[in-house]
Amino acid sequence: MAYDDGNVFARILRGDLPCDKVYEDDHVLAFRDINPQRPTHVLVIPKGAYVSFDDFAESASDEEIAGFMRATGRIARDLGLKDPGYRILANHGRDGRQEVPHFHVHIFGGGDCGPMIKPAGK
Ligand code: 5GP
Repeated sequence: MAYDDGNVFARILRGDLPCDKVYEDDHVLAFRDINPQRPTHVLVIPKGAYVSFDDFAESASDEEIAGFMRATGRIARDLGLKDPGYRILANHGRDGRQEVPHFHVHIFGGGDCGPMIKPAGK
């Protein structure tokens, strides 16, 4: 799947759309989800044009991948989530119900995240 430059996160990265930014460095931007599913719900995205987790894992440089992982841990820590705990999640493709075709990780926290996953249809 080719990268779509018009996706909403590409527009946020270009500054065409606003976001509630919580962190930024050379490789990563993090901002609050517009429709939070938990008291804390932050999206972490790479600045590079990667469609999905699979694209990022296959094509990003080691520096980008390490930078992304370090930043995600740091953001959760800086949000005060390390000790109470938190959940990170990445949806990939149709069955993963990925909506925005720019790779992102969700950070959920600020309370019990509930069971890991519910059986389909329940
Ligand atoms: P996905 O299902 O692709 O993993 O999740 C996409 C997430 O992006 C959703 O949680 C949705 O609420 C969030 N989202 C979609 N559009 C925007 C937007 O314009 N701004 C922000 N901050 N979040 C968005």
